Amino acid sequence: MYELPKLPYQYNELEPYIDELTMTIHHTKHHQAYIDNANKVLTGTEFENFEVEQILRKIDGIPESIRNTVRNNAGGHYNHSLFWNFMGPGKGGSPSAELSDMINKKFESFDKFTGQFNSAAIGRFGSGWAWLVLDSNKNVSITSTANQDSPISANLIPLLGVDVWEHAYYLKYQNRRAEYLKNWWNVVNWDFVESRLKNSL
Ligand code: MN
Repeated sequence: MYELPKLPYQYNELEPYIDELTMTIHHTKHHQAYIDNANKVLTGTEFENFEVEQILRKIDGIPESIRNTVRNNAGGHYNHSLFWNFMGPGKGGSPSAELSDMINKKFESFDKFTGQFNSAAIGRFGSGWAWLVLDSNKNVSITSTANQDSPISANLIPLLGVDVWEHAYYLKYQNRRAEYLKNWWNVVNWDFVESRLKNSL
């Protein structure tokens, strides 16, 4: 059974970029709902004690009758568990050394990288996520997913991701997704992104 992970900081600590009420509702209501729904559909099945990563990597092996519910809710749990750690108080800036080199090689510069990442996030119609991912050849790229689909279901390792569901920004930014994204870079926790890269290379 999945449980809501504790935030590694307080709800108000991403202010002024992400407001306290959004963080509180997002964590205690939205993330909790994905967990409750995933637990409900998985309890009593052979997948009950599987790690969420295992389930999402083998999503095609989940019976069709529950697959979409599992994809959406186990996916929501996994994506949000990462998302809280992709952010942190007093963060922002740019990555150091190894990741910086990979980004510059692939996207020419950090600014071009954030520009392309923002375009992917803005271009995601409706609800979903934009990601920086690592593929099995150890190349980085930008992708986006719909709803709560997760890159690990496509055999990609998510290094960084941003939630562009309206529930992630609507209270403070209303429909202004681009403004949310612009501010979001001020809370990106590159230390966590780099640790994910190191563990994946
Ligand atoms: Mn969300």
